[in-house]
Formats: sequence, C-alpha cells, structure tokens
Amino acid sequence: MELLKKLTEAPGASGREDVVREIIVAEMKTCMDEVTVDSMGSVIGVKKSAAKNPKKVMICAHMDEIGFIVSHIDKNGFIRFVPVGGFDPRVLLAQRVIIHGKQPLHGIIGSKPIHILDDAERNKTLQLKDLFIDTCIPKKALEKIVEIGNPVTIERQFIEFGDKNKFVCCKAFDDRVGVYVMLKTIQALKKADVDVYAVASVQEEVGLRGAQTTSFAIQPDLGVALDVTLANDMPGVGEHDHISTLGGGTAIKLLDSAAISHMRLVEFMKNTAKKKKIKYQMEILPRGGTDSGAMQRSRGGIPVVTLSIPTRYVHSSVETAHKDDIEASIKLLTAFLMEAHKF
Ligand SMILES: [Zn+2]
Repeated sequence: MELLKKLTEAPGASGREDVVREIIVAEMKTCMDEVTVDSMGSVIGVKKSAAKNPKKVMICAHMDEIGFIVSHIDKNGFIRFVPVGGFDPRVLLAQRVIIHGKQPLHGIIGSKPIHILDDAERNKTLQLKDLFIDTCIPKKALEKIVEIGNPVTIERQFIEFGDKNKFVCCKAFDDRVGVYVMLKTIQALKKADVDVYAVASVQEEVGLRGAQTTSFAIQPDLGVALDVTLANDMPGVGEHDHISTLGGGTAIKLLDSAAISHMRLVEFMKNTAKKKKIKYQMEILPRGGTDSGAMQRSRGGIPVVTLSIPTRYVHSSVETAHKDDIEASIKLLTAFLMEAHKF
C-alpha cells in the first residue's frame, strides 16, 4: 500500500498534475518499453507484444483530482477560490488545504462559529462562493508566495483501518486508486498478445479532456477505463441506490452518464472474472462518467468498458475503499489483458 499512499497524498488538481505525474513516470519506467508525456500532460506507457499484428489495448486512469484555483486575495489576506471539478461545499468546511504557490502553504477553509450564526444563516444552504481560505499571513507577505491561479488541494493523510485492517482512506482515491490498479497490473504483467497502452490521463474531472486527446493519438482497438464508483452502502441510502458495495469485488460498469459499455466487452470481462474466480459486481451509475466516455467517441468509435473500484464518500477528503476490491481489480485487469487478443 506504500505506492497508494504516495499517489493519494500527492497533489494534482486538474491541469496542475506535475507532482503526481513525476511519480507515475518513474513507476512506468520500471516496466514499460516506452514512456512519453503528451502536450496536455498525460503519461503514456507502452508495452509491446511479440505477437504478429497485435491489437492495441488502451487502459486509462486519470491522475488529476478535484481541487481549486486561487481567484482573489482580499485586503486582509483571505483567499477566495474557484473549484476545478465537482466539490460539494458541505464537505469542505473545516478542511485543511495546501496552496501550491512559490512554496506549499497550509491553509484552512474557515467559517463563522455556530455561536454567532442567526437562524437564517443556520438554515442557509452553503455555497462555494461563501467559503474562503485562511493562511494566517497578511496580504503583503502572502502575495510574495501566492498568486492568482495557484492550485489548491485538500491536505490529508492516508490511513489503513477498519475490520481486519482491510480498508484504506485518503483524499484523491478518485482516481489515484485507478492509477494504482493500472501501475500494479503493468508492473507484474507477463508478455501479453496485445500491445498495452497504459495512460494516466489529465483533466478528467473537468470533462474527460486528457483521455480525449490520448485516445485520438493512440487509436486503440479496445479501451478500458479504471476509476472509482460510488459505494453507497451506508445509512440513509436504500439498497436499490447502493450502486456498489465495499468488499463486493471489482465492479464491471454497464453504464454511466458518459458511456454505455460495449455489451460484448462486458460479457467478455464477466466471463474472464468467472473463469479466474475473481469477485465482481455489476454497476450502473445514473450520474457521473469516466474516461471511457472520451475513448468510446474517439475517431470512428471504440469498444470500451470501465472497471470500477467501489469507493465510499466520493469527492470528499475521506474517500474509502476496500483492499480486496482493489486486489480483485488488479487481478481482473491482468487476466483481461492476457486474454484480450481473443476478443
Ligand atoms: Zn474519477
């Protein structure tokens, strides 16, 4: 879990992925024949097959995380920000953040204490524009370190916890856990009969942007996105709205709002899981999407499917997954790549 800790704790708001990219490039260089970074910043690792006329399989996990950009510094040094990706304001209050200025700087998303709120304020729905970041540094000194446009990410430590220590939690599981599954898979992968293109894409959280350009450039025959999905197995949510459950296995996606998975590819994935006795669950996500949506619509269209890692509290600082589901995802992706030439 050392690598997952490193990946999730690293900052990488959409469009500002440099720190996490460096980790990924170093990991890919240990196992891929070729590693390049495209002009948007996505990392592409290629593992060539020895087979004749091999198919190209693109596996894709996004490296960016939801974050913010500094938009204004007021006369007292309080920072205003705009979101990059979909944050729920309710989960932002009282979070510690890091502002990536000339040097990384701690900040706090503060709010008025409950003691001084009147009834109207207490009942008001919180909006992002109501929030500010406090660095406890006066404007003049702050502006020597921070400027408009600097990225901001949540500060959070990775933990292993829960029943039998089987659970892991940090910010940015969306989608560093997908990146982790991809890296662990390609690092242990034997020679496959397909060319494997492992892509760590940028700017997924703002509209699948990195995957769009990489899939155009690669022209894959097949695409598999690796991403988190909602595990809503928690109080207050009906069983029919669980989407997935923690510990229920890797999730094979049927559809979300960005793509309908290729039906034959879904069957192929299911059969591979059954044959290898890998625990899986089927997933339908009514709202949200993955890089599959961009891959599928590239050029003349590409068969795609998403393998999802069930995650509780998605798009918060406490995204939580189950080690067995992560392991099952690695196993199924590995088995799939070894069989993919038969598709
Ligand atoms: Zn994601």
